[in-house]
Amino acid sequence: MITAIYPGSFDPITNGHIDVARRAARIFGKVVIGVFEKPTKIVTFSLEERVKMASEAVKDIPNIEVRPFYGLTVDFAKEVNANVMVRGLRVSADFEREFDMAMMNRKLSPELELVCFIARPEYQFLRSSLLKEIARVGGDIANFVPAHVARALKEKNGNSPI
Ligand code: ADP
Repeated sequence: MITAIYPGSFDPITNGHIDVARRAARIFGKVVIGVFEKPTKIVTFSLEERVKMASEAVKDIPNIEVRPFYGLTVDFAKEVNANVMVRGLRVSADFEREFDMAMMNRKLSPELELVCFIARPEYQFLRSSLLKEIARVGGDIANFVPAHVARALKEKNGNSPI
């Protein structure tokens, strides 16, 4: 059985992330969504909140598991016996970033293969940071995240537009 990890910040998980995880789960025996504890960017949600929201979002897919992780992604892959890393590609800027990261990860762990999923057109523009910006000013985000994530974003914003 092939196990894949899908690492990221998931701050919060969006329909774009969920779509990639779902597609990966159709191909691989098991997909472990790895929620990174300390991304370089400033996060809105705590690690626990991010893990909880992601778990709720994929609870209907039996071969997806959500776990927090703390150190190097390649070490997390070893910990869960994954030989594939899944990432999503939206615009070309994602490619540049993924390319650099893949080169570094290959040096660190040559046996870990990277598999990238091209984002569906409806999610090409969707990123967590933009979503939070829209939510912050009271915009409708219902089409971009599951209902429980939309609620959590509203709560973060004190239930009212700022
Ligand atoms: P990171 O902090 O590593 O950028 P993210 O949580 O933003 O992690 O995203 C995790 C992965 O999911 C990345 O490979 C990212 O490119 C991908 N991704 C993010 N948003 C989307 C989307 N809308 N459609 C497809 N893939 C996406």
